[in-house]
Amino acid sequence: MRIVVLGGGPGGYAAAFEAARLGAEVVLVERERLGGTCLNRGCIPTKTILRSAHIVRDTARAGEFGLTVPGVATVDVESLRARKEAVVDELVSQVEASAKRLKVRVVYGDGRLAGPRTVEVRPVCGAQTERFEGDAVILATGSVPFRLPMIDHDLSGVWTSDDAIALSEIPREVIIVGGGVIGLEFACAYVAFGSDVTVVELMEQVLPGTDRRVVKAIQAAIEEMGVRFFLGNAVESVAQEGDRVTATLRSGETLEADVVLSAPGRMPNSANLGYPEAGIEMDRAAVKVDEFFRTSVAGVWAIGDLIGGMMLAHVAEEEGVVAARNAVAELKTVGAAPHLESVRYECIPACVYTFPEVAVVGSSRDSAKERDINAVQAVAKFAANGKALGEGEAEGFVQIVAEEGSGRIVGAQIVGPHAVEIIHEIAVAMRHGLSVRDLAETVHAHPTVSEVVRFAALDAARKCGC
Ligand code: FAD
Repeated sequence: MRIVVLGGGPGGYAAAFEAARLGAEVVLVERERLGGTCLNRGCIPTKTILRSAHIVRDTARAGEFGLTVPGVATVDVESLRARKEAVVDELVSQVEASAKRLKVRVVYGDGRLAGPRTVEVRPVCGAQTERFEGDAVILATGSVPFRLPMIDHDLSGVWTSDDAIALSEIPREVIIVGGGVIGLEFACAYVAFGSDVTVVELMEQVLPGTDRRVVKAIQAAIEEMGVRFFLGNAVESVAQEGDRVTATLRSGETLEADVVLSAPGRMPNSANLGYPEAGIEMDRAAVKVDEFFRTSVAGVWAIGDLIGGMMLAHVAEEEGVVAARNAVAELKTVGAAPHLESVRYECIPACVYTFPEVAVVGSSRDSAKERDINAVQAVAKFAANGKALGEGEAEGFVQIVAEEGSGRIVGAQIVGPHAVEIIHEIAVAMRHGLSVRDLAETVHAHPTVSEVVRFAALDAARKCGC
């Protein structure tokens, strides 16, 4: 049984490793480094940079904690870059080691689908192309930054997140196009590093699609740090003169800066990869799949950012594991329908590493209503939490949405300290059908910020009547 995986990001390598664990002979094709966007240009480098930004913020607040720090922390870009690269290198080498241990053959080169179950690879070193036939092929070529047509990305002052992560410099003044997750994380990092930051967002709110209370809280916190927002507006053109860029907004205003960081989102990476030619149905740039990650061509599966949906690393990873299991099950089952698995997206958290952090899982009350769920909502604030107050991070709240009567948890939204960690107890509860009463009856250690989850759950249980 041979499986060929195209793309070595978190989706692709998770699929390759799972297939190998299940006994398949696996070829993993990657044109750059294993780890994909997540390790090399996404999750990990941004969180490494944000950690430094957090230290700058903490240092500036030292007096509040009874400490005297001589001078202010300033950024040494070279050291920042070196630390980021060391963290990335460590993680990439761990993925490479896992590939070796699991006997996954990694082929470095530019791959494309040359037939239903054939991947053709042009090696990085320019040698002759090689063809790899599999009993199944898993497509995991990820995504690329979306480039707005009105912005000339060839200008040296126009960056995408890839350029920002390269850390050639910290711009003194920066205009960020897009108030989504990537835009807001960079806004927090840059403003902490002392940049003058303006965010321009097309929609009337930041983090489009997110619960209103969350949006209001996070925008206020980021504004308080000194970031300016232009909402319901758009950058219509960018011109460069010398080292400066000028962005003209739809409202007619012009903004000047050193850099325009274009972060309006990402799009599936499917161009020129032979997908439609092999008969694979597409939905614009995304590869279309069913709930089991089967494409329209038998034996070809697709996962991760390439199929759109929740474009997150842990989602890609889970889809990769499930697609590998399904592909193996299909190949091993003869004369009967294989048992195929799917992913329960409603229990997967999504996190934003802003200051403070944001984490959500499942539905808000508004989206529960759209799904005809009669839901109640309970909110508990960090302002009364001992651990949060002691840490000097008492902004924000935990909001739990639960079904009236049963108390079944349908979602939660957290803004505040360690939000990206504490969301998981709610995700576990949702995954296993627990109610707010179950959460409320679980004694939480004191003092912890997680106690706020228990308070919200207690209130929700009262409101649900469960
Ligand atoms: P990718 O990670 O994009 O991997 C695709 C791989 O395929 C790449 O290695 C690429 O080189 C390879 N490839 C593409 N075409 C070919 C080809 N023709 N031949 C061979 N190889 C090919 N997600 C989170 O969950 N948390 C975060 O905090 C987070 N932060 C982010 C911050 C930024 C700035 C960005 C840009 C993204 C962030 N993401 C985050 C999103 C996350 O990185 C992606 O969702 C995730 O990497 C998707 O995994 P994937 O395997 O589908 O694709």
